[in-house]
Amino acid sequence: MSERFDVLVVGGGHGGAAAAMALRIAKFDGSLALVGDEQELPYERPALSKEYLAGDKAFEKLYLRPASWWAERNVTLRLGHRVTAVDAAAHTVTLDDGSTLAYGTLVWSTGGSPRRLACSGHDLAGVHTVRNRADVDLLKGELDATTTAAVIGGGYIGLEAAAVLRKLGKKVVLFEAMDRVLARVAGEPLSRWFEEEHRRQGVEIRLDAKVACIEEKDGRAVGVRLEDGEVIPAEMVIVGIGIVPAVEPLLAAGASGDAGGVKVDLHGKTSLPDVYALGDCAAHENVHARGATIRLESVQNANDQAQAVALAILGRPETYAAVPWFWSNQYDLRLQTVGLSAGHDDTIVRGSPENRSFSVVYLREGKVIALDCVNLTKDYVQGKALIVSGKIVPREQLGDPSVLLKTLA
Ligand code: FAD
Repeated sequence: MSERFDVLVVGGGHGGAAAAMALRIAKFDGSLALVGDEQELPYERPALSKEYLAGDKAFEKLYLRPASWWAERNVTLRLGHRVTAVDAAAHTVTLDDGSTLAYGTLVWSTGGSPRRLACSGHDLAGVHTVRNRADVDLLKGELDATTTAAVIGGGYIGLEAAAVLRKLGKKVVLFEAMDRVLARVAGEPLSRWFEEEHRRQGVEIRLDAKVACIEEKDGRAVGVRLEDGEVIPAEMVIVGIGIVPAVEPLLAAGASGDAGGVKVDLHGKTSLPDVYALGDCAAHENVHARGATIRLESVQNANDQAQAVALAILGRPETYAAVPWFWSNQYDLRLQTVGLSAGHDDTIVRGSPENRSFSVVYLREGKVIALDCVNLTKDYVQGKALIVSGKIVPREQLGDPSVLLKTLA
């Protein structure tokens, strides 16, 4: 007979931990287990490309809760185990050691694995991704022998890694396939400003860069070859080109969705009976994306979806409608984003880019839908109310930094 849990959470990252925590905080007294394939207690993943990579924070400081918290609340932790299969009819999962666990309700919160380069050399020693502690420990172990690091991908993770490596005194060359960094998540003014900032800090940025392969010597990466034949030598290559949602076992069990994510409704429910999914792996209709089905990769989304799933399991369902937010730290810059800028038809810059404190406000049909705030927490905090209000606000007022956003909402 398989051991059975009333609620079985798969994935011990932000979302899985938040779901288990929310259930216990709400006094759920059924049996509860969390299976995760990392060895670690649930921890703060964002630090991996920031303080932890920089060596500014010990790993033990990153735990979301100490071991005692889970034990005292009777949450069974099965760490270092991967779920390889789900039997939705039997309500069981199979682990990588061949054992099975039975569940009443399954919560799937597995995030994703880093997307790999498709070219030759993608799996050489010295080619790194940044998704979990093991990735970063491996990378850190090679830093002493690294003079030049090539970073492939100008998204948040690539830019954060580049900033840390500059701080550590490494030469950094960053390759972005598109014509600007942060192209998938931010408007052009912010991209250009961050490009300039990184260049000022000494990062060589190559835009429109088409990587042909990773060059090899004795089984190790020694550089990046571009399609035009140029080779840029580097002892380390960091690849930050997005993730592939870890949803194969659920799809194989018949869940709706595809390789781009498992489909969930506004309560996090999948198409399988008694199976929820949340966080980076969950494709959901988002009210802030005009109902489009999207995946969000943020701590906010993982935490807030986990709350919605916990409430649904407790029989008190509430629609998931939280305003998305996100942050990124690079050098002394704190970027805080609220709302979703995709689909904007206008942008306004507020504040002072020269003084490294400004916001880019995104509008659609005259309404504020998102803000990217650099070292301007006040705008970030007050902007949320403006997004929620859905009010049409005069451009001149939005562009005037002396007008507090809260007075416009
Ligand atoms: P994860 O936190 O990734 O957790 C999923 C867990 O499930 C992992 O431990 C994984 O190994 C495990 N798993 C996968 N498959 C299985 C399986 N079959 N069986 C068992 N376990 C499995 N967000 C922000 O908002 N701000 C930031 O500044 C920021 N910085 C980031 C920096 C880095 C380097 C990274 C990698 C992410 C960052 N993010 C940031 C994104 C944020 O960390 C994620 O959105 C968040 O962790 C998503 O939570 P999750 O629970 O969906 O997935």
